[in-house]
Amino acid sequence: MTVPVFGQIDPPQRLLMGPGPVNVHPRVLRAMSADMLGQFDPEMTTYMNETMQLYREVFMTRNRWTFLIDGTARAGIEAALVSLLQPGMTVLIVRAGRFGLLLSEIAERIGADIRTIDLEWGEVASLDTIEAAFREHKPRVFACIHGDTSTTTAQPLEGLGDLCRKYDVLSYVDATATLGGMPVDVDGCGLDIVTAGLQKCMGGPPGSSPVTISDRAAEHIFSRRHVEKGIRGADAEDGYGTRISSNYFDLAMVMDYWSERRLNHHTEATTMLYGARECGRIMLEEGLKNRFNRHRAAGAAMTAGLRALGLEVYGHDAYRMTNVTGVWIPGGVNGEAVRRRMREDFEIEIGTAFGPLAGRIWRIGAMGYNAMKHKVLLTLGALESVLAAEGYATPRGAGVDAALVVWNQVLPEALKD
Ligand SMILES: *Cc1c(COP(=O)(O)O)cnc(C)c1O
Repeated sequence: MTVPVFGQIDPPQRLLMGPGPVNVHPRVLRAMSADMLGQFDPEMTTYMNETMQLYREVFMTRNRWTFLIDGTARAGIEAALVSLLQPGMTVLIVRAGRFGLLLSEIAERIGADIRTIDLEWGEVASLDTIEAAFREHKPRVFACIHGDTSTTTAQPLEGLGDLCRKYDVLSYVDATATLGGMPVDVDGCGLDIVTAGLQKCMGGPPGSSPVTISDRAAEHIFSRRHVEKGIRGADAEDGYGTRISSNYFDLAMVMDYWSERRLNHHTEATTMLYGARECGRIMLEEGLKNRFNRHRAAGAAMTAGLRALGLEVYGHDAYRMTNVTGVWIPGGVNGEAVRRRMREDFEIEIGTAFGPLAGRIWRIGAMGYNAMKHKVLLTLGALESVLAAEGYATPRGAGVDAALVVWNQVLPEALKD
């Protein structure tokens, strides 16, 4: 049997208005089509250093250790946790959605002593709740999700750093879904390790995970560097010192690779580096404030449009992410049939949901290159038509009109302050 010569890759022109991945900025695609360089070519190491500089701005930090982990966002999560945690070390994890559960699943594989703040999906943990849990569990590490796309909710991060320092806790935050769309103020909030991905608000493809690491977290990670397997470090009593159990995700080795010493580890994923660098450049050209406002306008317009169609938006207004909106599927409407018609008739993808929200909400994103007025309006117009076809009568035209009013007001007003 001979293998058929399949067609060239030529994907349909879908508009990806789900919770990610999203359409990639054309400039990023162009950057990614450039040819390879040798790993230690001065041009390549210059690009690496420039990428570190760009992502310091993106993460709003002065952290020296700001670089890329090769792999999807989950690679960043795993690298952070496996480099911070070791068997028996106490970690406190906020679980209020799918990705909080992922953190504890990874910590469990590491053999950490897991304590949790378990909340209803879509709730957030207050500083008081976190402090009470610090007193009770005495963790070494605290881990949470910033924006959890499974619930469209953003955990407030303000004040976390001071609290963690007071209790001598290192913090880890997964900001995959918010970086580039909502402020991820690493230094302002005093966060120790923050990781992300490109395929949400950064407007890039999946496959690279930007990370930033505070000096004190780096010190902890480096303290695990030269310890022979099975031999505990000098201050093992405090839970420091065993060797990081992953080679690929050993952040001490990855930092050595990104340092001036350029100690060989993996081969930096050259194409992803080009893409990540371009995502960073685009973000800084636009300006952080403009970019956050653009996402805010898109989210506000989407929300207003959905409400004008008579739909109920999921979650607390005070904690909803600006860049992905959950909406309850109205009674009697087949959620999957709507998603299929959106795709087949309009080439628009909207998201389904997981866990307790599966089959109950759609998730509609407007992230990165897709946080644009016409894309929000097209999505609302298409949804209105599809809902009507599925037997749900909407006030025709109301969604687009409401979104248009909000966009034309919210953005100009937001840009003023
Ligand atoms: C989308 C998302 C991820 C995705 O990880 P990948 O490995 O890139 O699929 C992780 N965390 C959060 C909070 C996300 O929203």
